[in-house]
Amino acid sequence: MGGPEVDHLIALLAKLPGMGPRSARRAALKMLQQPEARMLPLTEAAQAVRPCADCGNLDSQDPCSICADEHRDHATICVVEGVGDLWALERARVYDGLYHVLGGTLSALSGIGPEDLSIHLLLSRIAEGGVTEVILALGATVDGAATAHWLTDQLRPTGVAVTRVGQGVPMGGALDVLDDGTLAAALRTRRAS
Ligand SMILES: [Zn+2]
Repeated sequence: MGGPEVDHLIALLAKLPGMGPRSARRAALKMLQQPEARMLPLTEAAQAVRPCADCGNLDSQDPCSICADEHRDHATICVVEGVGDLWALERARVYDGLYHVLGGTLSALSGIGPEDLSIHLLLSRIAEGGVTEVILALGATVDGAATAHWLTDQLRPTGVAVTRVGQGVPMGGALDVLDDGTLAAALRTRRAS
């Protein structure tokens, strides 16, 4: 239609969540018609945003604005699979502690072991002291449950309280479909892991 660059842009957009070929074509057209307003902000954001060296959140500052916020509860760390889960909890305004983004779950089937996730970083954060509770907010899947179990064993020697959010909560990027009340209840009904 418009040469290889246009086809490439459409192909890239079509890979985004919620995008089909048709919506990708429409989005590409909108972007190409006003590149300064619609495309430059994307590259600016891509260049400015980095993973936080402490928690793995995506932010233009490092430590991220959550880790750097002195008003938040620095004694509590909520462990999530991905940044999408973190964003969902933040949007719902149901939690005021810190986070730790694991980057996935352990998975024997997919060959994902502890060294593939940011578990060392979590343990070193706890070793620095000051943390009293770790909340595991992992997916209600077989891998999520296995990861929570494994992490509980790893964290036991540290002496911090390890809790899990209420059951039946789909995590792993699926949190944003939940309403704030359900998220708040999941955090409130956390129990010892
Ligand atoms: Zn952070």
